[in-house]
Amino acid sequence: MAKNQKAMPALDAAKLRENALTSIRLGVEDFQRSQGGVSPDPARALSSIRNLFAGVLLLFKYKIANGVVDPADAAALIFNPPEILPHPDGNGGVTWQPAARFKDTTIDVATIKKRFDAFGIEMDWDVISKLQSCRNHLEHLHPAHTLGEVADFVAELFPILRDFIHVELEEEPAAILGDAWQIMLLHHDFVADIKEQCDEAWAEAGIPDGMSEWLEACKCSECASALLKPAPENVDAGDTVESDDERFLAMCVKCGHRELIAPMLLEALGKSHTYDPRDGEEPTLELCHECDREAFVVLDQACLWCRCELDYTECEDCGDPLGQEDQVNEGRCSYHAHAYEKFMSED
Ligand SMILES: [Zn+2]
Ligand SMILES: [Zn+2]
Ligand SMILES: [Zn+2]
Repeated sequence: MAKNQKAMPALDAAKLRENALTSIRLGVEDFQRSQGGVSPDPARALSSIRNLFAGVLLLFKYKIANGVVDPADAAALIFNPPEILPHPDGNGGVTWQPAARFKDTTIDVATIKKRFDAFGIEMDWDVISKLQSCRNHLEHLHPAHTLGEVADFVAELFPILRDFIHVELEEEPAAILGDAWQIMLLHHDFVADIKEQCDEAWAEAGIPDGMSEWLEACKCSECASALLKPAPENVDAGDTVESDDERFLAMCVKCGHRELIAPMLLEALGKSHTYDPRDGEEPTLELCHECDREAFVVLDQACLWCRCELDYTECEDCGDPLGQEDQVNEGRCSYHAHAYEKFMSED
């Protein structure tokens, strides 16, 4: 029957592999030129992300195609499966049947992930998703903003490619990627060293304990690099982020841009507490009544910046959790405070 013989585009696994490696090599070349010492070329950063993302996906597809013996099975795994379409039976009923042909398009990241899961192939999808969302927003980015971002990607991609090529392809990255591999390796080690120095410096900079986890999310607003360190002038002056937040600066190691670290930390915290009032959701983060910073976590009944906690945490009549605004009622929710007042005045 025609409907079972789903015509499929041809698949050449060796070509898939070659295209993947070429794309990655080009991506690394673009990366190197984008950074290029005296005259960095930001436009190259965009093309680098494009090529790296394409190359990584091709390499993943090659692995999937290579995991089966029959080329027809390989193609079925790589090309998007036929759409399932409704067929009315003429008597008011309907059956669902696949269209005759596989699509000409190949699978996307989400489907690659499903294939990997099915074949038990492990992958750090966080890094891949970051690369993907950057790739998807490329057209809206100012090229200069990606100079630092692409540098971070190349560093983050390095261990992923290394392990994938070793474990899943059972090949030597240096052998199949040549010079591109040496560039990635040197860059990765360089970034790892600087990152360690930055982390050590921040550990001495007096960031409130509850806030330090948000440091990871801070990025230079000029070049989007995550390699930020405490500004030397603040360190020399003995400033702490907690007490001197109005002047404590972060300095981008990549481009030298300086900006206040506290608003970046608070913004990162805020982003993890977004809510939609249209859905009837309540804010989970508030302005702290003690320190005046947007760092009071409602659920924890405590401020991540100044560590202040509530004197009264639950209503002594109904047990409901109390918030900052309930503290004036000295241990009751507004409803029971009101009831209590009424009861006392009637007395
Ligand atoms: Zn920067
Ligand atoms: Zn506070
Ligand atoms: Zn109550």
